[in-house]
Amino acid sequence: MIEKRIDELIKILNKASYEYYNLDSPTITDQEYDDYMDELIKLETNNPHLVRPDSPTLKVGSTVISEFKKVRHSTPMLSLGDVFNYEEVIEFDEKIKKTIPNPNYVCELKIDGLSVSLIYEKGKLIRAVTRGDGTTGEDITHNVRTIKNVPLSIPEDIDIEVRGEVYMPKKSFEALNEEKEKLGEKIFANPRNAAAGSVRQLDSSIAAKRNLATFIYHLPQANNYNIHSQKEALEYMKSLTFTVNPHIKKVKNIDEVIEYLKYWNSHRSELEYDIDGIVIKVDDFKDQEKLGFTVRVPKWAIAYKFPAEQVLTKLTNIEFCVGRTGKVTPRADLNPVRVAGSKVASATLHNEDYILSKDIRVGDTVLIQKAGDIIPEVVEVKFERRTGEEIPFEMIKNCPICNTPLVKKETEAAYFCPNEKCDARNIEGLIHFASRDAMNIEGFGERIVEDFYNFGYLRSITDYYHIKDHKEDLKELEGFGEKSIENLLTAIENSKNNSLERLLFGLGIRHVGKKTATILASFYDNIDNIMNATYEELCTITDIGEIIAKSVYDYFSINKELINNLKELGINTNYIGREKHINEEFNNKTFVLTGTLESLTRNEAKDIIESFGGKITSSVSKKTDVVIVGSSPGSKYDEAIKLGITTWTEEEFLSRR
Ligand code: NAD
Repeated sequence: MIEKRIDELIKILNKASYEYYNLDSPTITDQEYDDYMDELIKLETNNPHLVRPDSPTLKVGSTVISEFKKVRHSTPMLSLGDVFNYEEVIEFDEKIKKTIPNPNYVCELKIDGLSVSLIYEKGKLIRAVTRGDGTTGEDITHNVRTIKNVPLSIPEDIDIEVRGEVYMPKKSFEALNEEKEKLGEKIFANPRNAAAGSVRQLDSSIAAKRNLATFIYHLPQANNYNIHSQKEALEYMKSLTFTVNPHIKKVKNIDEVIEYLKYWNSHRSELEYDIDGIVIKVDDFKDQEKLGFTVRVPKWAIAYKFPAEQVLTKLTNIEFCVGRTGKVTPRADLNPVRVAGSKVASATLHNEDYILSKDIRVGDTVLIQKAGDIIPEVVEVKFERRTGEEIPFEMIKNCPICNTPLVKKETEAAYFCPNEKCDARNIEGLIHFASRDAMNIEGFGERIVEDFYNFGYLRSITDYYHIKDHKEDLKELEGFGEKSIENLLTAIENSKNNSLERLLFGLGIRHVGKKTATILASFYDNIDNIMNATYEELCTITDIGEIIAKSVYDYFSINKELINNLKELGINTNYIGREKHINEEFNNKTFVLTGTLESLTRNEAKDIIESFGGKITSSVSKKTDVVIVGSSPGSKYDEAIKLGITTWTEEEFLSRR
């Protein structure tokens, strides 16, 4: 079984490698390739006796078969080990520290191109070679000579080899594909393949037109030049007029590495070229030597790969979930994949129309992405991957929980379970009430709410405030210790002091989201005023339309008793939001954030500003009052200076709280 899977994976990976490296025309995504490779590495690690000599885990690149002259490298040109999240980067650091207790690191952008070795004799470029299979590469000197930032001669008459990346800037890539499209030619999948396709041309006039560029980052025989660290090597190569990336940073510890990763995770789109990750290298060459290599990668460096935003995977089943309003949402079960940094095993399919319009079927290969960065959704079906075995979609007719026939309103795409007593609806409503943006009763996730519901302790929202009466019974339940019960009860007690908007949101009134709840709470100050408001009056409030007004009015017409019960239980029903904190340094002012803040996240900064009456926008204009400037600020800082807008450092911002 395992042997068969290893065999399959090797076949898939070898085919993909050939298409990627030799044809410059991949048929699967990098993410899929990395996932297959990850699976193979894990299988081989757990079954070392099954490692085959032709395994791609032991190889760099692909076999060199081309019309170009073959050149053997002075030292192997290796690949890099991959990691996909911050924890794995921290594990890398921990491993390094077993050999090098206090390593310095150099963080470099991982340029998404292809590596090249440049060989100079007596200061003149004599040869440029691709990485090839790591031992032997292809001679591409004629093409590399056409790259503007590759010096044909350097200021010192020395023999030297440097290595770096040939890449195609995003703009040139777009222009090239546009032209190819016009000519009806096959377009390149990405700038990396376009760069590789350009340097592997026999006719150098093609590469000359393609506006390629290089960043140089490696000096293989550093000893010969009395260079002792990566940072020194980069500076030396820069002095020889090679283009070294300006964003490279030497850092003293892993925290600074993570900071660098975070910064580039959110700023990489501002670059004029693609990067697919960050390379972290131990700086000192003696330390590098102590750490050594595997057959494929150095042990002193690692590539952190950015999370892919859109990923292909197989849709294995379609299930149906019933929400608190009774809405029935189809959900796709997926073969688990990493999307934007986390594992995803299911995605929303929204409703029947969505599925039918995209013709999504069980068995399909689908492209998924995170919607608003939280819930994954299916973007499209890869029809070319259909085998004929896929099962067309059919909407269910009855509630999957209580079997009541579903209903559909003409104006809405969704089906609803009309049974007010449907367990699924009630449970979802209770989970929503306790959720973070609502009453924020920590501990009441899906599992506990479901258990408490089934045991009968929690059937309506007022029951939360009676749970303390069941304290002794709860102790009998499996998995509940004294401490965890105390924590739950404290969280429930604390929720009584919430400001009104949390309660309004938690009640689950249709069309009343977080924002609307805050508008209503701040406008009316307490729940009695909202309950007494007429429909017409509600309609006059800014941002409250007729649909919301009707829903709010209807809700309070039939739920007065519930609200009175909540009040009797001691739940606050007044708005205690913003007035408490109004701060003139922030109130009614517009703020823009740029750069990385040291002590808090952007969301935390946003919360502080908003809680003091300020608001945040994403770009600087004449209407901006203050730009808060973190480390490595972007163009927004320049814009602020140009427009003469007040700027605060992080310290200045925090001191004004
Ligand atoms: P890699 O691209 O993951 O990392 C190693 C390479 O990074 C180096 O060889 C070098 O060229 C480059 N690099 C860029 N900036 C660098 C810097 N500052 N310092 C050092 N190196 C830097 O590894 P790889 O072996 O070149 O390629 C493997 C990857 O290629 C896979 O992980 C996959 O994403 C992709 N791939 C995709 C397919 C496909 O079919 N889609 C097939 C094969 C490979």
